[in-house]
Amino acid sequence: MKRSGIERSGLTPRFWEKKPLEKLSQKEWEALCDGCGKCCLNKLEDEDTGEVALTRVACRLLDDQTCRCAHYENRHQFIPECIVLKPDNLDTHAYWMPQTCAYRLLWEGKPLPAWHPLETGSPHSVHEAGVSVQGMTVSEFDTPEEDWEDHIIEEPI
Ligand code: SF4
Ligand code: SF4
Repeated sequence: MKRSGIERSGLTPRFWEKKPLEKLSQKEWEALCDGCGKCCLNKLEDEDTGEVALTRVACRLLDDQTCRCAHYENRHQFIPECIVLKPDNLDTHAYWMPQTCAYRLLWEGKPLPAWHPLETGSPHSVHEAGVSVQGMTVSEFDTPEEDWEDHIIEEPI
């Protein structure tokens, strides 16, 4: 769900502490994304236990250097299953979302981390903190699904 470019100018200061998620404007909602790219990594889910394992195998549209989706606006033409996260479906998806994802954190009633771009004013702070997927992925083009188990990783947090 990584945005192609995140506009954070002209926002109400600390809006995420003043309004519930369902009251945010579209611009505020989009600005919450920290740009980590972790939600664009493929996961393996155990059908019996529901346990979710993260892999370093990235969606084919993820740019490993910018951690952005190459075709965010029309991504569903290429990846129809890419989730459109909204306040009313967070309860369905929160369990598999990255621990540091801003949407998950706020949904859980937790604050944003100090490295979040809304806190630092810099879109680079997520990478500088080492919590993004920058430079650590392999492409799903080059990695057959039967090999994904070999690429299970711990979430960088
Ligand atoms: S299409 Fe892929 S890269 Fe783009 S937002 Fe969805 S999961 Fe991320
Ligand atoms: S995990 Fe959350 S904060 Fe990180 S890119 Fe995905 S939607 Fe944005």
